[in-house]
Amino acid sequence: MAEKKKELKTKPYKKKKVCPKCGHGTSLADHKNRFSCGKCGYTEMKAKNG
Ligand SMILES: [Zn+2]
Repeated sequence: MAEKKKELKTKPYKKKKVCPKCGHGTSLADHKNRFSCGKCGYTEMKAKNG
């Protein structure tokens, strides 16, 4: 019996936010102080962290 080694490892992608409205695959555009989705227009303010 052949055993297929197929491990799906989720690569630590670049810290990109995913649009909660559009779902996986749609990342938010990185702006100066916010993220925004070019698809639905969702905007998320960046947290001031340092
Ligand atoms: Zn969106």
